[in-house]
Amino acid sequence: MLEIEGLDVFYGDFQVLWDVSLTVGSAEVVAVLGPNGSGKSTVLKAIMGLTAAKRGRITFEGHDLRRVPTHGKVDLGISMVLERRRLFGAMSVQENVLLGAYSCRDKAEIARRLEWVESLFPIIAERRGQEAGRMSGGEQQMVAIARSLMSKPRLLLMDEPFLGLAPRIVHQILDIIRKIHAEGISVVFNEQNVQLSFGLSDRGYLLESGRVVLSGTGDEMLSSDVVRRVYLGG
Ligand code: ADP
Ligand code: MG
Repeated sequence: MLEIEGLDVFYGDFQVLWDVSLTVGSAEVVAVLGPNGSGKSTVLKAIMGLTAAKRGRITFEGHDLRRVPTHGKVDLGISMVLERRRLFGAMSVQENVLLGAYSCRDKAEIARRLEWVESLFPIIAERRGQEAGRMSGGEQQMVAIARSLMSKPRLLLMDEPFLGLAPRIVHQILDIIRKIHAEGISVVFNEQNVQLSFGLSDRGYLLESGRVVLSGTGDEMLSSDVVRRVYLGG
């Protein structure tokens, strides 16, 4: 479904991704792992076109994504949940969620999508009039995910969806991502915690200083020396 090959990304003169390649299959969940600053967010931003790639190919179902503007990617079926959620705090839950359907002009279709999203996240219906800024971090993450689903993506990119959440909430978000996967949507998520990631993903890629140093299934990666070195300093 998604294929990245030989991706190099610079911020100014500073190279942050080096020859990164990764693939995501249809209805697959893929983890992008690595310590802080290793380039995880940059990979997702490059897919979405929020940061420019200097070299490399990014194709989605045969489309060359480097030639498609960001809103065009949404139309192709790609959506992203940004790190730290980025809601409009003074707007209601429902107003925030509806923003995710900005590219859709068909009111009946928007209503159908809202109904679908509310069936996945009952909290969106229960709290529709509440100011988003007054919700807890975990609830805000649910609103942010719900907003991203309003464009009916077939590929959902999630930048550290568990960041700063209490363990109990992490489990709720894990369940939600499993539900999204059960809808046939592919998910790529960034995460620092390897153990947590492999409870959820089919496969993963480990980044270190902007390079993919390891990829494979959870078992393959958890038993690797590289993971021990990067995460346990051994
Ligand atoms: P991660 O998500 O794994 O923490 P990032 O992709 O955010 O890593 O960052 C990778 C590297 O790029 C880091 O060294 C970071 O400091 C740098 N970086 C990130 N965003 C910018 C930016 N807008 N301008 C300059 N450097 C950046
Ligand atoms: Mg990041």
